[in-house]
Amino acid sequence: MDTKAFKRSLHSSENYHRKGFGHQAEVATQLQSEYNSNLIQEIRDNNYRLQRGEVTIRLAESFGFCWGVERAVAMAYETRQHFPTERIWITNEIIHNPSVNQRLREMEVGFISVEQGKKDFSVVDTGDVVILPAFGASVQEMQLLTEKNCKIVDTTCPWVSKVWNTVEKHKKKDCTSIIHGKYKHEETVATSSFANKYLVVLNLQEAQYVANYILNGGDKDEFLEKFSRACSAGFDPEQDLERIGIANQTTMLKSETEQIGKLFERTMMKKYGPARLNEHFQSFNTICDATQERQDAMFELVEEKLDLMLVIGGFNSSNTTHLQEIAIERGIPSYHIDSAQRIGSGNRLEHKPLNEDLAVKENWLPSGSIVVGITSGASTPDKVVEEAIEKIFELKATPAVTMVAAESPLY
Ligand code: SF4
Repeated sequence: MDTKAFKRSLHSSENYHRKGFGHQAEVATQLQSEYNSNLIQEIRDNNYRLQRGEVTIRLAESFGFCWGVERAVAMAYETRQHFPTERIWITNEIIHNPSVNQRLREMEVGFISVEQGKKDFSVVDTGDVVILPAFGASVQEMQLLTEKNCKIVDTTCPWVSKVWNTVEKHKKKDCTSIIHGKYKHEETVATSSFANKYLVVLNLQEAQYVANYILNGGDKDEFLEKFSRACSAGFDPEQDLERIGIANQTTMLKSETEQIGKLFERTMMKKYGPARLNEHFQSFNTICDATQERQDAMFELVEEKLDLMLVIGGFNSSNTTHLQEIAIERGIPSYHIDSAQRIGSGNRLEHKPLNEDLAVKENWLPSGSIVVGITSGASTPDKVVEEAIEKIFELKATPAVTMVAAESPLY
């Protein structure tokens, strides 16, 4: 399929909207009251610190809603205003945050359900309005909605579109796109739908396996088994790794994406020589600024003396999980929660340990004075962070409030 031509014709269709509907001002006020937090603003203004009784909160200096997410949520709200009576669907969660998705349900935006791993679009009728989420939708989904004559509101983040354009460039040069991501993640599913040939590698270890295969060959059956769900149909590692380009899920760990890019550059240089590198290897910078900033802020925060970390964000949010990984690597007790409701009374916390199912931790808040590091993923509203902080204060039951002077040393 000529995905570039399809996109061009979609973008010129009168049923396609990607710039909002002129209700920005009203929506901004609504979003402000539903998702912003005075407490968080106060902490920001106080150099990201707040002390109340025995608890000192240290917020990462970049956290929470990124502009791509804010834009997507605002467009979804605007869509409801602009089409007050039409049926509105969204192909997936608008962003990976339960409270935002719940709010959209209350506004009677329907979510396309998934039956046995497949989305059920049978509920969508001709002329319905369909919102594409911030992390995009596959080209096949867009095609199906176009055939149904739906009004499409595309909130795909421009950073994600940038990766799709990169994949188009790979295709033009007959390169296989090697995508650093999670093959099941909606963004990676969408990105791979634009590629002719692709291979998704989860981490440096998988990338090293592929690089080794490029240089030394290996067991083809083992390769295909290993990547059976993470490559294009008919993928042949003997033929399809001769020319490669690098792409990424925008929310992966930035340092790992860079390492993977460099690894493949070295590999192709070794195999084909520097003079022929450009024929065999393509790389463009497609790491999203917001992801990068949140990860950098987290690296700074974990340098401090923290008693524990609270990482707040959807459990299926890739960027939140990576923030959690950074704390764990530093050996800091770290808890990933998706809402303040996970913080129970009696010093009990329901949280999701990395790559495990939900677990309950008793006595998670140590006694005495504590310093709690807090960050949140790109799809988490400040309001949710505020609720979590207030719960911590409640648990420690300290009524007196003292703001720590920004310049005063904490440790
Ligand atoms: S994390 Fe980056 S790519 Fe994802 S929505 Fe936000 S700005 Fe866009």
